[in-house]
Amino acid sequence: MKEWEKEIPTIIARGEGVELIDIEGKRYLDGVSSLWVNLHGHRKKEIDDALIRQIKTISHSTLLGLSNLPAIDFAERLLEIAPPGLTKVFYSDNGSTAVEVAIKLAFGFWQRKGGVDRKKKKFISFTSAYHGDTIGAVSVGGIELFHQAYQPLLFETVKAPAPTCYRCPLSLAYPDCGMACVEEVEKIMKRHRSELAGLIIEPLVQAAAGMLTAPPGYLKRIRELCHRYDLLMIADEVATGFGRTGKMFACEHEGVTPDLMALSKGITGGYLPLAATLTTQPIYDAYLGEYAEFKTFFHGHSYTGNPLGCAAAIANLQIFEREKVLARLQPKIAFVKDRLADWKQWDHVGEIRQVGLMIGIELVADKKEKTPYPLEWRVGTQVCRGAKERGVLLRPLGNVIVLMPPLSITLRELNRLITVVGEEIERVTARIK
Ligand code: PMP
Repeated sequence: MKEWEKEIPTIIARGEGVELIDIEGKRYLDGVSSLWVNLHGHRKKEIDDALIRQIKTISHSTLLGLSNLPAIDFAERLLEIAPPGLTKVFYSDNGSTAVEVAIKLAFGFWQRKGGVDRKKKKFISFTSAYHGDTIGAVSVGGIELFHQAYQPLLFETVKAPAPTCYRCPLSLAYPDCGMACVEEVEKIMKRHRSELAGLIIEPLVQAAAGMLTAPPGYLKRIRELCHRYDLLMIADEVATGFGRTGKMFACEHEGVTPDLMALSKGITGGYLPLAATLTTQPIYDAYLGEYAEFKTFFHGHSYTGNPLGCAAAIANLQIFEREKVLARLQPKIAFVKDRLADWKQWDHVGEIRQVGLMIGIELVADKKEKTPYPLEWRVGTQVCRGAKERGVLLRPLGNVIVLMPPLSITLRELNRLITVVGEEIERVTARIK
């Protein structure tokens, strides 16, 4: 904060397409989609219009004991595109609350079933996971710098090794390892068999950990294990959802339907805070009962199902369909892959990880030993500072340079983004050497 206080902050006044414009009129390419939320650019006409139309009817009424038209309409549309088997929507207003809701629903499910199932209270979560900043989400998190300080406040979880190959927690190498990390999860499930309520995972990509990618097939095997050991699978698609990975949801890549799915960020195309936790009929049914049984899910936020958020979210899905966003995304994904292909040879590029338009470029002090740069050298920040001067806004995750532009970015804009980032990586790493 001391450094932040010394700096003159950039204050954004306007947005236009993939660009942000500050109060001095300087334009920046929004290289991280305003923290991974924006999909179709800023001032997208269809979303602007939908919001103006909605404002003229009502901006908010509660979803506690009432409903509203956009909330119903969006829930129906969302379930049409969700993995099959997810049939119910619970609204909240950010990624962390979507996760809290998922955890509480999973926990409460077993409590309501009663009998021996009441012992099922614990969650498996992964090392280096990030699920948000509220206390429940922090409890299932695994990033030391963010989460360790709150340890005494957190509920206990069972940690499984993150499925990441570059620095394998089991010190094995893919594919010879035969995905031994799955077996580790199975061992945990066996050991804690009667006490596990669920497992929470960021499907395909642990985003905040530095875009750590899981080997293909991993997610599907976790799904099978959750079935076999009778615990609920929570997929946190807050970062991966809504096209980021090249499909609407990351779970689709492996034909997986989780028991609960947390969504936010791109849900409104990056316009407004809205979130949804999707779930199945059996979980919904566990909460049904006569009034006096008090089986209700006692959880609700003031802005649950906010009509403006839902109106933006409907417009978002309409754009996906009308503009064939996912089909048009594929050449962009291939273009990035192609452009970054030789960077792997660069002295200080440890690994390039890409799933769809989620890209992490990890910079290392020593490539052979995979030695990270000391965090206090702030190599990632230096690269992003240089890029900012040249009109490209990025936000690194430690030594990982993150590229997550709006899905609407053109090939020309992508080319510029990659050129600027490449030159800044070369400049900063050469100087440090
Ligand atoms: N889950 C994941 C996977 C995330 O990446 C994030 C945010 N980066 C969250 C949850 C929390 O979302 P929010 O910041 O909206 O609370």
